[in-house]
Amino acid sequence: MTAHDLDLRYAQLDLGPREESEFDLTSDSRTVVVSGPCPRCHGTSTTDFPLGVVGSKGMPWKRDKSLTPAERSAVVADEVLYCECGFGHPELPDGALFVGCGAYWRLKPSSGSGT
Ligand SMILES: [Zn+2]
Ligand SMILES: [Zn+2]
Repeated sequence: MTAHDLDLRYAQLDLGPREESEFDLTSDSRTVVVSGPCPRCHGTSTTDFPLGVVGSKGMPWKRDKSLTPAERSAVVADEVLYCECGFGHPELPDGALFVGCGAYWRLKPSSGSGT
């Protein structure tokens, strides 16, 4: 595992789509949690996606059941993840929404055949 690069300056960089397999997806009946190393600073970033919000895409959720891996993937597919490594990188703006290096990326749906 690559060490967390604490010297990286804060920069809002679009890292583009990343393989879902690079991250751990877990869920309970309310939230899907994506965690894994930030592709830029390599700090561990954890992002919660509450199902109440993503459910507004019109997907029906059975709230009393945990999600299948396929459902988890559907929740986070094309969602933007921001680095939330929790370390205040140099030049982190005051009031930044996410404490991290500023990088952001999307999760590629793992089952997609590509376009
Ligand atoms: Zn980062
Ligand atoms: Zn970091």
